[in-house]
Amino acid sequence: MREILRFAHYLPAQRERLQRLAESLEWQEPLAEPDSLARLRAECLPAPKAPAQLSGAANHLKERNGERVRALIRDGVTDEDTLLAALGDWPAALADGDPFPILFIGLVPTLNCSFEPRCVYCNQVWVPRLLSQQDWKAILDEVAHPVPPYVYLTGGEPLLLGEEIWGNDGLVAHAARLGCAVNINTNATMITPRVALQLVRAGTAKLHISLDTADPARQAELLGGRDRVDALWRGISNIQVARELLGSNHPQIHINCVVTRLNLFEFPALLRFLLDIREVRSTDGPAKITEDPAFGDFAFHLIPVGGDDNAPLRPTAAEWKRFYTGTWDEADRVWRDYQAAIGVPEPDRKALADHVPFANAFRRVDHRMGLDDYCERAARGDYWQGALGRRCFVAPSQAFVLPDGAQHWCGAHAIRRPPPLGDVREGGIRANIRRSLHRLAELPIDCCSSCAGATCVINQTMERNLRTQIADWLKEASANPSAGAPLTP
Ligand code: SF4
Ligand code: SF4
Repeated sequence: MREILRFAHYLPAQRERLQRLAESLEWQEPLAEPDSLARLRAECLPAPKAPAQLSGAANHLKERNGERVRALIRDGVTDEDTLLAALGDWPAALADGDPFPILFIGLVPTLNCSFEPRCVYCNQVWVPRLLSQQDWKAILDEVAHPVPPYVYLTGGEPLLLGEEIWGNDGLVAHAARLGCAVNINTNATMITPRVALQLVRAGTAKLHISLDTADPARQAELLGGRDRVDALWRGISNIQVARELLGSNHPQIHINCVVTRLNLFEFPALLRFLLDIREVRSTDGPAKITEDPAFGDFAFHLIPVGGDDNAPLRPTAAEWKRFYTGTWDEADRVWRDYQAAIGVPEPDRKALADHVPFANAFRRVDHRMGLDDYCERAARGDYWQGALGRRCFVAPSQAFVLPDGAQHWCGAHAIRRPPPLGDVREGGIRANIRRSLHRLAELPIDCCSSCAGATCVINQTMERNLRTQIADWLKEASANPSAGAPLTP
C-alpha cells in the first residue's frame, strides 16, 4: 500500500521528516494487506470530549445543597464560611442514594514499566496486578453513567499491556464506546506504527508523553539511555503519521515535562522544539488560534520533580527564582515569536502563561505567598501546601484505582498511599466513596501537599465559584428580604 501524504499543516522541514517516516519499511508493514487502511479508517472511533470537572462538581453541589443554603440565608445566617460549609457538604449532596457523577477517574492497570532500570526520577511504588480485564471494564461500565468521565490510564507503562489497552476489545475502545474521553500517560517508546494506528482507531483522546528536554544527551541522562530517547521520538512521530493516514485530529499529544535542576533552564529550547514539530493550521485556518483544530497539540505540563528520594534533583530556591523570572520570560518570547510567525493577529496573541494556563506551577495556581517564599518551599519539595484550601471540594467527583484494586481519592494519594477508600471489587467506585464520606472532613491531609497542580486549580476555582454563588444569594436576599432568591445553579 502506498499512500501519498501531504502533511499540509506542518512546517516544510517537518513535512519532509514525516513523509520520509511514512515511506519507511517500518510503516509499510502494518499496511501491507490490501484495504487495511480503508478498513482502519472505517473502524475509527471518534474521541469523545471530556466533561468539565469543575462546573460538573460545582453544579451538583448547588443542585443538591442550594435550597438548604438559601433556607439558612432566610433564617438570617450571613457568615460566608458557614454557608460555604453547607453548600460544599458532599455527604448531604449524596444523601439521596442516586448515582452521582464521577467526572475524572485515574486507572493504573499496571505499575510495571518498559524501562528497567527506571528513569532517574521515577517515584512509583509497585503493587501486583490483581484486577482482571473484566474488573477494569466493570469499573468503566459503572462510572460511565450519568456523565461519562475523563478516563486517565497511567502506570508504570500502560502500553506494556498491548491489546488489553489499544485492541478492538481493549480498555480505550471500551471507554470510548461508553462516551468517555481517554488519556494515556506513556513514555511513548512502545508506539510502533501498528500501535499508533490502533491508538487512533480506538478513539484515544490524548496521550500524555513524558519529555523533559530537547537535548537528546540530557534526555538520555534522565531516561537512562539514548536508545530510549530515539524510541520516544519515534513514538511521537508515529502518532503524527497515524493521525494523518487516518485523517484524525486525535489523539492529541500533550507533553509532561518533569522539571529538575538538570533541565529547568532548557525549557525555552524545549518549547521552540515543540512548536516547530506541531501541526500549524492558523495561517490558513480560523483567525483565532483557539479555534484551530490542532489547538492544544503539544501543550505541556511542567511538573516539579516529586518524591523524597529525588531531593538531589530538586532545583535550589535561587534556581527556581531564575526559572520563574528569566527563563520563563525567554520562553514567553519564543511563544510570542511563534504566534507572529504563524500569522496570529496582534490583538489575539497571548502570553505563554495565559495560553497554556496549566504550564507553570507558580503562575497556574494561587499561592498564599510571593515568589521568593514559594521558591524557598519548592526547593524543599513543597510545591502546593501554600495553595491548598481548608477543604477538598473535588474528591468525591473523582477516583483513582491501583492494579491491586485499591481505590484512592486521587492520584496524589495513590502515590503517597494513605489507607485506601476500599477495594474496587467490593461494591464498586461509588460505594467506596459513599462509605468514606466521613473521611472528607479530614481533607486536606499531609499527603495532599502532592496534590496535582491541575487539581489545585480546580479546587481553588470551585471554592471561588461556590463563594460567588453564596454572595449572589446573600445580595438577592438583602434586596428582597421577604422572598428567597430563585435557585439558579
Ligand atoms: S516511564 Fe514513568 S513509570 Fe517508567 S520508569 Fe520512567 S517515570 Fe517510571
Ligand atoms: S491531594 Fe488532597 S486536596 Fe488534592 S484532590 Fe487529593 S484529596 Fe483533594
